Amino acid sequence: MSTRKVPFFDYPYVFKSEEETYMNIFKDVCSRGAFILQKDLTEFEKNLAEFVGVKYAVGVANGTDAITMGLRAAGIKEGDECIFSSHTFVATAAAIHYAGGKPVPVECAPDHQISVEDIRKNITDKTKFIVPTQLNGRCSKMDDIIEIANEYNLKIVEDSAQALGAKFKGQCAGTFGSSGSISFYPAKVLGCFGDAGAVFTNDEEVYKSLMIQRDHGRCPETGEVVDWGLNLRMDNLQAAFLNQKLKSYPSVITRRREIAAIYNDRLKDLEQLALPPAPTEGGDYFDIFQNYEIRAERRDELKKFLADNNIGTLCQWGGKAVHEFEALKLSKDLPFTEQVTSTMLLLPINMSVSNDDIEYVCETITKFYKSL
Ligand SMILES: *Cc1c(COP(=O)(O)O)cnc(C)c1O
Repeated sequence: MSTRKVPFFDYPYVFKSEEETYMNIFKDVCSRGAFILQKDLTEFEKNLAEFVGVKYAVGVANGTDAITMGLRAAGIKEGDECIFSSHTFVATAAAIHYAGGKPVPVECAPDHQISVEDIRKNITDKTKFIVPTQLNGRCSKMDDIIEIANEYNLKIVEDSAQALGAKFKGQCAGTFGSSGSISFYPAKVLGCFGDAGAVFTNDEEVYKSLMIQRDHGRCPETGEVVDWGLNLRMDNLQAAFLNQKLKSYPSVITRRREIAAIYNDRLKDLEQLALPPAPTEGGDYFDIFQNYEIRAERRDELKKFLADNNIGTLCQWGGKAVHEFEALKLSKDLPFTEQVTSTMLLLPINMSVSNDDIEYVCETITKFYKSL
């Protein structure tokens, strides 16, 4: 038996990959006393906006607040129906709930992104928002979604927490609608050393609202309180770390696409699996592979077999779609999504795994199905 270990995610690696550089940043920022709303944050916001090709990026406390703020900035009102894919993190629905909206879960499509057909089926005269999750580092079918939004006069607020740098027809996730959100949770593709997030927008009014919301309702120029606000700011220290990490981010995307290509090549002939679309050059989609999510027959047995062979895997969201959490009272008949949640599995994909590790994962999966 192999002694190789492939953990699902290596948290200390987030720091250890460039330990000395981060220690120097820590010293520099802290000895300047630059803790809240300082130049490191402003610089990171500028670089981030440039990276995705958007007018404004606003650093906030986390990815969940980013969605809530985006909805508020777009003028959500009590009871506004917001359509989202049930195959998402509970945070998408919670953000809608806390912004005063009514979360309306719909089906996902075979590529696990929100189903365009099911968006149409769920539109009522109370529908005001579409909140597509750009899941696993891939964009939803944004041209169709924009068409529906225009037809019914709906606003789009993207949950692009998992998709920094993912593109649809050359345009980055988070830049299609009224606003888009990003999470810098440590396990995200661009992860920091704690919680942080950002909101993107091209709309100056939305931008102004975000800046006011995040700092106790104060106007950034005058300091005067001009509205109700909260403390939703990104730590300046996290911004300084993220600014460093952003420099090597394009190579991170390249590496993740490389790993995904190996998975696709080695696993494509196993008929017991449904794989995510392979990374392609020059097509409509540029995926950054936050996750490599497969659907697998006998998923639970496979998961156990992999664990017995020292390979870490994960069922996203604890194995349930949002409408399956009974406490939230969003129960609904979403048969395809339930088929997905009962078969889905995330394979290891991150910067600390080697090609040999990936080959080992593929060999072990193949061994499992050949042994049946
Ligand atoms: C991570 C994530 C969030 C929330 O981000 P936090 O920074 O943890 O609040 C929201 N939606 C999706 C799809 C996510 O993966």
